[in-house]
Amino acid sequence: MSTDEDSTNETHWDLAPKFDFVDAHRLPFSSDKVSLKKIDTECSGPFEGKAHGRAFTHAANIEIRDLQYRMYTEGKQSLLIVLQAPDAAGKDGLIRKVLGQMNPQGCRTYPFKVPSSEERAHDFLWRIHKATPAAGKVSVFNRSHYEDVLVVRVEDLVPKSVWKERYEIINNFEKLLAHRGTRILKFYLHISPREQLERFKKRLDDPTKHWKLNAGDYAARDKWGDYREAYEDAMEKCHSKIAPWHVIPADKKWYRDASVAAIVRDTLRDMDPKLPEIDADLDEIRQLYERELDEMNE
Ligand code: ADP
Repeated sequence: MSTDEDSTNETHWDLAPKFDFVDAHRLPFSSDKVSLKKIDTECSGPFEGKAHGRAFTHAANIEIRDLQYRMYTEGKQSLLIVLQAPDAAGKDGLIRKVLGQMNPQGCRTYPFKVPSSEERAHDFLWRIHKATPAAGKVSVFNRSHYEDVLVVRVEDLVPKSVWKERYEIINNFEKLLAHRGTRILKFYLHISPREQLERFKKRLDDPTKHWKLNAGDYAARDKWGDYREAYEDAMEKCHSKIAPWHVIPADKKWYRDASVAAIVRDTLRDMDPKLPEIDADLDEIRQLYERELDEMNE
């Protein structure tokens, strides 16, 4: 593997760099039109290179796990992480290296594929709502309700009059989740068409990745502009303080992981989950323990 992303041999990096990842990657709350073309797909942020970014992610993951444990024991708040991206942008890698590092007792990933006939027989949020996180839990959506204004729109799967109404329905749905105590983070993994093609090539060259190959992925490349427009519209219409979109430069895998880890960590820090208050009489329990120990040692 190329090491040209590593610009240093340093081993003592600053693992708490003064860099505001949210500020860098959250879309602004203005009425400006979203233009993905104007947002870079490549970025190194505050990092000296790949090894630095990876070390940061490792440290952030440890903190995320600790905060998630607190949230689980607190049992009040919940976190929903929505991932959307073009093919090969790295949703699976991000889940493996960052989000999947959380304790599975309190975190679950839900992949949303082409709806089944049962799912199609209900409203588009039916399958989504069931997967939202309960109190104390984290849900990671690998694709989401946004497919119903993305692929559905670009591939003309329902009439415009139907998908057009969905932005407002999605906003109300996200408001409902937030009202119940769910923090929502939405990430778009932003890769360039060139980087996507390189990753398709790596899949062709690696027999263990052949299962990922799909002629449909190439067809979607022809509609890159249509998908971009659909994403821009979804981001513009469904971006709010309670459910913000972040556009993550994803051409460098290590930066994708580090920046998402930083934003999830900072969000959990802000949620500030607390270990539960103790009801039990600790002095009494300590005495019971010591009595047991004495009996065992007699
Ligand atoms: P992924 O690409 O996420 O790793 P797959 O290769 O199985 O997983 O692709 C899932 C497919 O399901 C995608 O093409 C996506 O557009 C499609 N899909 C997801 N949700 C919907 C939906 N609501 N309507 C139509 N297609 C959908």
